[in-house]
Amino acid sequence: MTSNNFPSIIPVPKRLQMKPGYLPLNDIVVTLGNCNPQEVNSWLAYLRKQFTRLGIGLRADLLSARTEPVFTLRQNGCIFLKLAITDSGNTEEEQYRLEVTQQGISLESSSAAGIVHGLQTLLQLVWQAYQQESKALPCLDITDTPQYEWRGLHLDVSRHFFSVEEVKTCLDWMALLKLNRFHWHLTDDQGFRIESKKFPLLTDVGAWRKESDGSVYGGFYTRDEIKEVVRYASDLAIEIIPEIDIPGHSQAILSAYPEFACFPQKFEPLSCWGISDNILCAGKPEVTAFLKELFTETAELFPGRWFHLGGDEAPKENWKKCPHCQSRIKAENLANEEELQSRLVLELVEHLKKSGKTVVGWDEILDGNIDQEPIVMVWRGDGKDAARKASRQGNRYILSPNSITYFDWRQSDKQGEPGAFGVTTLEMVYSFNPSDYAFGHPELLLGAQANVWTEQMPDFARVKYMVLPRAWALSETLWCSTEQKDWSSFQTRLKTLGEML
Ligand SMILES: [Zn+2]
Repeated sequence: MTSNNFPSIIPVPKRLQMKPGYLPLNDIVVTLGNCNPQEVNSWLAYLRKQFTRLGIGLRADLLSARTEPVFTLRQNGCIFLKLAITDSGNTEEEQYRLEVTQQGISLESSSAAGIVHGLQTLLQLVWQAYQQESKALPCLDITDTPQYEWRGLHLDVSRHFFSVEEVKTCLDWMALLKLNRFHWHLTDDQGFRIESKKFPLLTDVGAWRKESDGSVYGGFYTRDEIKEVVRYASDLAIEIIPEIDIPGHSQAILSAYPEFACFPQKFEPLSCWGISDNILCAGKPEVTAFLKELFTETAELFPGRWFHLGGDEAPKENWKKCPHCQSRIKAENLANEEELQSRLVLELVEHLKKSGKTVVGWDEILDGNIDQEPIVMVWRGDGKDAARKASRQGNRYILSPNSITYFDWRQSDKQGEPGAFGVTTLEMVYSFNPSDYAFGHPELLLGAQANVWTEQMPDFARVKYMVLPRAWALSETLWCSTEQKDWSSFQTRLKTLGEML
């Protein structure tokens, strides 16, 4: 690998050849190759949006959108960018190859995701060249591919609500960092944030909470808004995993439909943080029926492969006293309340299969008896116990250990540093090595993600402060091999990419 003169903005790719010469920057004319024109148009719209945002004064058009004949374009020094989907037959493959020569640029991949990643690299190279007097790209040949397939970012929109535009900004950061899974935590005790046509009270009542000063706080996404975000993410090769957290963290649901509690009473969405004892009753058949309908309706909005049903922090005190829960435990010969939760989860796993979804759940789903179907999101402590257990049971798993990838934690122990609980520094995130969690079955370890719980993030400026630059450190941890990672190079590059975000 020759890394001399490699522009210091992205990590050194898996294969890199620097070549003599430069390509002076100019307007970019894209030739379609065998790509889908609709996809290419959305990528171009993205590039133009980024050029404008970053003050890069270049045009980027499809060849057919230009009126000038090709030879005039060449005379004007336009850069030809040739896109191609190669038919390696493996559309999961995110690898891309980007070549810059004095004649133009070519970008190929076997998947749309690979092309999107290559465009991000190109955008970063253009941005850096644009900062320099020469305004020229060095000639090079890059082939790069991610180390892990699950490179995720989560956002809690229940504790605090964020607009569609703010969510899209999160997706923009993710795209730039080549993160590819957005875990959207849409419901919790403090607010239900996704419109349901079948159960309108979930947002009429469950999306609004009374704060201690008497004011009302809340909001939710309409089905059209959800579709818009899903489309936006898809253009950036990001898959969205919706989460409806059950049976705990459900007080917003109970405020709309109190009959789904073990002991119905008047509930309100919580206006404080913590864990509520008021969880959904797993003994009443109407609760399971409700969840099945709600999950089907939600799954229809998300074309992705996964559905997250939470499963975390569900205190079982009510279940122990509830005649419905207890009679189900008896009737189905279950050992205890943990097994009752597993039974509910497995029923929903089966149900979601009909919508083509694989279930993801927090690592508490391992506390009962589950089969190998659900994917486990490891979070408690340093995550090693749950990862070991998932690995032993043959469940696929994703790492989000709270001591390393909880971005609501403070970034330093400095006085006044905002955030919760402990400290997760940038260097801790960069040094995180997922392969330490493989435990003999590396194929079960899908990757990792950062979780952005927003109790301490009342506005989007705070979200940005907490997420960046730690999400960048995480992205390199997941994209690069151990050999590619270099903490001192990362620190040098921090400033340049920081200015782009
Ligand atoms: Zn019950």
